[in-house]
Amino acid sequence: MVRNPSLRWPVEIPEHLAGSEVLGVGRRAKYLLLEFQSGTLIIHLGMSGSLRLTEEGADYRTHDHVVISLSSGRSLRLNDPRRFGCVLFQPGDASEHKLLRNLGVEPLGNEFSGAVLHAAARGRRVVVKNLLMDGRVVVGVGNIYASEALFRAGIRPAVAARRIPGHAYDRLAQTVREVLAYAVNRGGTTLRDFLDPDGQPGYFAQELAVYGRTGAPCRDCGTPIKSLVLGGRSTFYCPKCQRSQGFRRIS
Ligand SMILES: [Zn+2]
Repeated sequence: MVRNPSLRWPVEIPEHLAGSEVLGVGRRAKYLLLEFQSGTLIIHLGMSGSLRLTEEGADYRTHDHVVISLSSGRSLRLNDPRRFGCVLFQPGDASEHKLLRNLGVEPLGNEFSGAVLHAAARGRRVVVKNLLMDGRVVVGVGNIYASEALFRAGIRPAVAARRIPGHAYDRLAQTVREVLAYAVNRGGTTLRDFLDPDGQPGYFAQELAVYGRTGAPCRDCGTPIKSLVLGGRSTFYCPKCQRSQGFRRIS
């Protein structure tokens, strides 16, 4: 049942899905995928959305916009106060949907490697941090994780991506995986909105090496952390641990 179709785009739930079986549940970047015989529901939680399972007939909360009734007697409800989320349907192969088809590789998947980054950097005038945050190259590496991965790899964020040699990209791909895997295990970084099942904010935020630590001593060498703005985003690095290594910087 659609209680309010006016999310970021009008809600698309074809009538023929009523009574059909959910064959699989997946994820691509920030999109949740509910797979049916005839196609896939693509759900995004936007800025403020959440999905919760409730007993059928439970009182609606304000901003419960979409209700999917399940054969178990429970229902899946999409609550989204700011309505930046979406529920869209793609017949056939979900990866052909316009929101999904240009997405880069998954950073924790088998396709991600230093070679992917190295190839994407070729001939492009972009700094390495912005390459790392380009969702057409690799998805899910947000501002915090890009800063932390570059610190661990010892690469300055403002280095021209095309000047970085393959072996340094191999190292960077490894640190991206490390940072993401560690953050997932520690319950994420987000300070507000997302709570772990015990209602506590993610712990990883308290262990960041550089992000948000301007002027504070580097945890490795004690040098004050510096910050700058790249691509409109605050960027943090240690001027001693993160070298330009002879790569030419884009100022
Ligand atoms: Zn340092």
